[in-house]
Parts: sequence; structure tokens; C-alpha cells
Amino acid sequence: MASLVVRSRARLFHGHCWVYGTEVAHVHGEPAPGDVVRLIDQRNRPLGSAIFNPQSQIVARRFSFRRQDLDADFFVRRITRAWQYRQQLADSAAPNAAGIDPRLCRVVWSESDGLPGLIVDRYDDALVVQTLTRAMDDRKPLITAALNEVLAPRVIVERNDSPIRKAEGMDPAVTGILSGEGATVIEWPAPPVTLRIDLLDGQKTGLYLDQLTNHRAVAALAPGARVLDAFCHQGGFALACAAAGAASVDAIDSSQPAVDAGSAAAGDAGLDIRWHVRNAFDALKEFEKRGDQFDLIVLDPPSFTKGKGSLQSALRGYKELHLRALKMLAAGGRLATFSCSHHVGWQELRDIAAAAAVDARRSVRLRQTLGQRADHPIDLAIPETEYLRGLVLEVTASW
Ligand code: SAH
Repeated sequence: MASLVVRSRARLFHGHCWVYGTEVAHVHGEPAPGDVVRLIDQRNRPLGSAIFNPQSQIVARRFSFRRQDLDADFFVRRITRAWQYRQQLADSAAPNAAGIDPRLCRVVWSESDGLPGLIVDRYDDALVVQTLTRAMDDRKPLITAALNEVLAPRVIVERNDSPIRKAEGMDPAVTGILSGEGATVIEWPAPPVTLRIDLLDGQKTGLYLDQLTNHRAVAALAPGARVLDAFCHQGGFALACAAAGAASVDAIDSSQPAVDAGSAAAGDAGLDIRWHVRNAFDALKEFEKRGDQFDLIVLDPPSFTKGKGSLQSALRGYKELHLRALKMLAAGGRLATFSCSHHVGWQELRDIAAAAAVDARRSVRLRQTLGQRADHPIDLAIPETEYLRGLVLEVTASW
């Protein structure tokens, strides 16, 4: 089997699992993209087993500290372990696990579950799979068999339409059914609403599962409040706030299908939400100009940056959003703001909010920090596994 000699000082020696091309001193053998390779240090000591792809900047991703092949048993073991963790979460009292139902959760999350590039989301009796590394993509039949063995779903859907597959030299537009049959639109009861989740054509794998606990946390602030949910997708925050007794709810998203799904769910449940299919930057500007005021504003934009290169312009965009939102908050109003890019750290998010508050002539206090739901676990040695950060801020003074 081929092996890669990893230079000392590589992040691998600090518990990370990625090996960049620049961190490889030598390649023994001729591994093909998607192969399993052994990692060794410059003194020939073993460092574990990794998946290889020279087409990616990350040429190897370690998936085991031992000699290990990517065989059927391995997938069954790793998926079983990941699934057991999600089942435990259902009984957890931790805030980031509140209300987790293992029938609607991320079952496998890539590096955090020792399966680099594999994502599996469960939506009731359906599973949605993404294989974002070449090695996982090559082994879809093994993965499908293992998922059927461990979870026995009715249907397994493939959502390999993520642009990040391009970084591995793979087709970024593959969707379909991997096994089973039947409906790929799921109706999920989230009283008082029924969510309609389109597994083949919705965004991501259907829903933003990582935000589900935060919908509840923010809705706790909603009774009696005038709420604005910007970047609402299907209105996760808007629906929860309306159900919790908000005085009014406005929800903005640029995606017509997402808003259609949200507005259908609201209509069925008799919840009153004003939906706006708009660019949120334009809509916020217009609302502000008109003198609208809110008591609770949610900002949950997509990751505007995929890399460090575009970070500065992304940060300017974030700041503009915060400035407009803060200006529209009434006395004592709250802003729940999220960033889903691992490139924007906690301090950066705070700094943006702080600078925007000064420009908006508001003092704010930090009421709460929010993060990704616990079914998207964070591996401390792999900082990239922490990506969703949220702050709940409260206006204490206007000047
Ligand atoms: N808040 C949602 C998740 C939002 S994800 C939840 O909790 O479920 C980000 C959303 O921003 C997506 O639904 C996407 O359609 C939307 N979006 C992207 N760019 C936008 C823009 N410029 N204006 C408004 N919405 C935008």
C-alpha cells in the first residue's frame, strides 16, 4: 500500500486529520485519487490511515490512527458509533441538544465522526447522503449497504450537488436515489406547524438542522415582540416566533421555493407571517428608511465567504446587516445574529456587532451565545468543525 511521509510541524501532529500537499515530504508508491494510504512521519513511524486525493489541496485526510481499510465492517462500525451518539443526545439536558429527536438529525458529520467527507442526515424514514471527498464518493455502494444495515431507512437520497465537490475534482451536480423508493418530500410535525421538507430539491439536504435548537431559544424571546427574521429560508425562526406569540412577524428570503414552503406551513397552522421574497440587504435598507421598528431581529445569512480571500468583503457585508438591524431595534430590543462560516471566529463576530452598534449609536449587552446543534459535533483538534456561531444582543441605551 502506498504511503505518505508527513513533514514534522504538520497540523496532523496536533490531532488534526488533514494533510495539505505542502506538508507531504514524499510519496511512496503510486496511490490513485480515492485510495487509502498509510501516513508515516519522517522517521518512518506510523501515523494512521488516510484517504488520498492529489486533486485537492488537502491531499490526505486521516480516518484512523491505526492500519485500517475502508471496508464494509468499518463503515458499519463508524456509522453505528455516530448513530449511538445521536441517540444519547435525545436524553441530554445540554442547551445545544435541547429537543433533539434522532429521527430528524444529522447522523454522520464528516471529520467529526471519523468519516471525512461523508454527511448523512436523517429525515424520519429517509436518509440524505453527501459524499464530498473522492474516497467516500467511490464507496457509495458500501456506505449505502452500511446505512441500510444500521438504520434500515425506507429510502436513501443522494445530494451531491454541493459546489465543494469541485475542490476534489468531482461533478458538483449529482442527485438521485441510492436505494429504496417512495416519497422524497417529507412532512414532519413540529407543532403547531407541519414542515414540508424536500429532500431532492430543497436547500442543503432539506433543512438547516444545525439551527433547530436555536429556533426555540430565540422564540423564547418572542412573546409580544415585533419580529423580523432575515434570511429565513422556510421560516424556522419566524414560525417558532409566531407560534410563541409574537405581536407580528416579517420574514425575508431570496428563495421563492423556501418562502413558499414556509408560507404553506404557516397557513396550515393559522400563523400570521408577512413573507418577503427579497434580497435581504435591499429589504432591510427599505424597512429602515421607512422607519420600521422591531423588538427582535434575526440575522442568519449564508456564509458569504468560502475562503480567507473573500473574508474582508464578507465582513463588510455582515457589518452593514448589523448596522441596519441595530438601527431598527426599539428600546430594549434584541438581535439574534448568526455566522455560519468557520472563517469568522467568535471574536470577529463580536467585533462586527460592536462596531455596528457604535455606528448605530446603540449600547448592547451580550445576553446569550448560541452555536451549532450537538448533532454537528465539534472536534477540538479540528477547528473547521466549529462553524455556526450566534450572539443574542440586547439594546441597553440609544445615543
Ligand atoms: N434561518 C434559516 C436558515 C437560513 S440559511 C433557518 O434557521 O432554517 C440562509 C438563507 O439565506 C437561505 O435560505 C438563502 O436562500 C437565503 N439567502 C441567501 N442570500 C440571500 C440574500 N441576499 N437575501 C435574502 N436571502 C438570502
